[in-house]
Amino acid sequence: MSIDLAFDRTHIWHPYTSMQNPLPVYPVVAAEGCELVLENGQRLIDGTASWWSAVHGYNHPALNAAVTAQLGKMAHVMFGGITHQPAVELCKQLLSMVPQNLTKVFLADSGSIAVEVAIKMALQYWLASETPQKQKLISLRKGYHGDTFAAMAVCDPVDGMHDMFAALLPQHYFLPAPQSRFDGDFLQSDITPLQQLLAEKHTEIAALILEPIVQGYGGMRFYHPEFLRRARTLCDEYKVLLIADEIATGFGRSGKLFACEHAGIAPDIMCVGKALSGGYITLAATLCTDEVARGISVSQAGGLMHGPTFMANPLACAVAHASLTLIAKGNWQAQVAAIEAQLQQELAPCRRSLSVKDVRVLGAIGVLEMHNKVDVGALQQQFVELGVWIRPFNNLIYVMPPFIISSEQLGKLTSAMRKVTGV
Ligand SMILES: *Cc1c(COP(=O)(O)O)cnc(C)c1O
Repeated sequence: MSIDLAFDRTHIWHPYTSMQNPLPVYPVVAAEGCELVLENGQRLIDGTASWWSAVHGYNHPALNAAVTAQLGKMAHVMFGGITHQPAVELCKQLLSMVPQNLTKVFLADSGSIAVEVAIKMALQYWLASETPQKQKLISLRKGYHGDTFAAMAVCDPVDGMHDMFAALLPQHYFLPAPQSRFDGDFLQSDITPLQQLLAEKHTEIAALILEPIVQGYGGMRFYHPEFLRRARTLCDEYKVLLIADEIATGFGRSGKLFACEHAGIAPDIMCVGKALSGGYITLAATLCTDEVARGISVSQAGGLMHGPTFMANPLACAVAHASLTLIAKGNWQAQVAAIEAQLQQELAPCRRSLSVKDVRVLGAIGVLEMHNKVDVGALQQQFVELGVWIRPFNNLIYVMPPFIISSEQLGKLTSAMRKVTGV
């Protein structure tokens, strides 16, 4: 029986769409390796890794085996008062990979929730200390941290949904997005606003939250590691926690296991998600230091006040453990380096296109920034006709493919990108 697209169109929300005359959706019946299979049998090379998550590709034997084995034991049990092997094994593996100062793990059910938990940790930490007035956050313009309310309140105030929900969102401080390019010179002017704000307001600031190096959905921007180093130093100087949102960048995407490594710094609180479960089942985590955990534990509440129903879902933990085990083998390093080199070379000609404002590549991320907003529906259709799955937004046409993509498959993605820019 075919997929009932009319029903879908009438009754089912898709991400960031209206129910009035939404753009078409493409029916997918299977996915394997780096290919999505449409209902009509057409195969598309996947340039998205399903929003940064499917780093090992689809239908992976080791990941399938992990889910299947766990399913035979138990799909889920509550995590209140109970623990299980998949959670313990996953957290052991995770802690062996993250910066060493991070020792405690909170398993959350999505990236946005991991950000909520990170913010809650920071606020609760200061509430429990002798400086309970530290309750504001600092965030960067062009930042993106998720769609729930606390996360929305630290997303870019212009591109985010601040206008619509202004009355409901807590008001935080926003700094200009860093202008120094990843591979360019560091501009001192990038750090001055943070310096000034902290000097003036540090007594009311709980934490600085940022996406290290790669600002994702706020503009697909790559900034200079020196900004991150200076930010770390300033946070220490002014007793402000540093929250690194590595949900998009974690597990190799930027060319380092975690993007913080580009700057050689470690955050006090870190969020991971997306690639954590290899793209199989929704799962995220918030990690923190002994010091933050100790602070929270002596708070009036005595614990961290969060506990989702599906916390530490065993199926998700089992597949995440399998995914991290694959990452820990280290093949991603050569894979991401090869993707980066090929993207650099094959996207470079797009600089000649008059419609292209900038071409940038970092790790397994390739971005064409256009001068104007693109027609998502028309471009999407053109890409499908070219046999690739690439989903642009605003003025950005970008790819972040599975790490296992072959150079031939990647060539098809870059050739389609060149084609739509007319070069
Ligand atoms: C995707 C993303 C989130 C939100 O994760 P969800 O799983 O979609 O809730 C948060 N922060 C960053 C940097 C992201 O890229």
